Amino acid sequence: MKLLEGKPIAAAVLDDVEADIRRLGGTPPSLVFVRVGEDPASVSYVESKRKTAERLGVNSRLDPFPESISEEALLAHIEALNQDPAVDAILVQAPLPAHIESQRVFNAVDPSKDVDGFGRQNLGRLVQEDPDAFVACTPLGIQEMIKRAGIPTEGRRVVVLGRSLIVGKPAALLFMQKGPFANATVTVAHSRSAHLPALTREADILIAAIGRPGYVTASMVKEGATVIDVGINRVEDPSRARGYRITGDVLFDEVAPKCDYITPVPGGVGLMTVAMLMHNTAKACRLRRSGK
Ligand code: NDP
Repeated sequence: MKLLEGKPIAAAVLDDVEADIRRLGGTPPSLVFVRVGEDPASVSYVESKRKTAERLGVNSRLDPFPESISEEALLAHIEALNQDPAVDAILVQAPLPAHIESQRVFNAVDPSKDVDGFGRQNLGRLVQEDPDAFVACTPLGIQEMIKRAGIPTEGRRVVVLGRSLIVGKPAALLFMQKGPFANATVTVAHSRSAHLPALTREADILIAAIGRPGYVTASMVKEGATVIDVGINRVEDPSRARGYRITGDVLFDEVAPKCDYITPVPGGVGLMTVAMLMHNTAKACRLRRSGK
């Protein structure tokens, strides 16, 4: 079993992005975070993304709004950012409060600044396999991990557990594309899928993105599989100072011995998500300057 850790792979991606930014020259890329409310997980995600941005010389700014902001006011702010020529990239931190229709907000971000790739234009471009598409950072990070670890995908079975627009669907689309580290036979499973363990046991590469701590057990995994655990779940743990620990969707101790490769949680896919956000931000800046 080989542990597929996010740290060294994310560091290599960030080195490449830093070199890209140096090559671009001129004003550094600029990335604006829009956060609504004070959800502790969102606050800490945005902080860690901003720290990485700062390290790379990306100009980042946080535009925070109270939980009570109306959808119209939020959309008006996004439109102002769309129009601002000094802004290369916009990230609206999910989740948004229930009174705001998230997909409407994601669709409002100018496609050329939509570095999260949640808007309909970029999702459509991904379906069309357009290399200029912005692809959601977590699935892109999963593919990058697999690429840099040299794990073959061509002709192999990839099973994606979860069909969200943020992880499951774009992950499935990426691995079914024509090209290197894709060309896989992809199955997508979800909460209504029948005979789930039989499906997951067919996976050469199993991507678990359901948000259910320890859901994937050893009996659901084939010997020699690669298991990518996307889940980030808070589980109560009075022995920890914070009163909780972070765990994935995979029962790691039981599943790991059967795997060729497995990602840990924390320390796996999460770090790749941040790295790919920087990659997408540099790409947004490069495309803008080239007039695309
Ligand atoms: P969503 O809640 O949007 O989607 C969950 C998906 O899992 C749905 O498609 C749902 O099915 C499916 N599902 C839920 N329960 C089951 C089950 N028992 N069996 C099969 N399928 C099930 O979650 P996200 O996609 O946003 O996130 C998934 C996990 O990944 C979460 O733990 C989240 O925290 C984590 N995450 C991690 C990131 C990272 O950087 N590492 C980034 C983004 C998310 P249905 O559609 O039928 O409801």
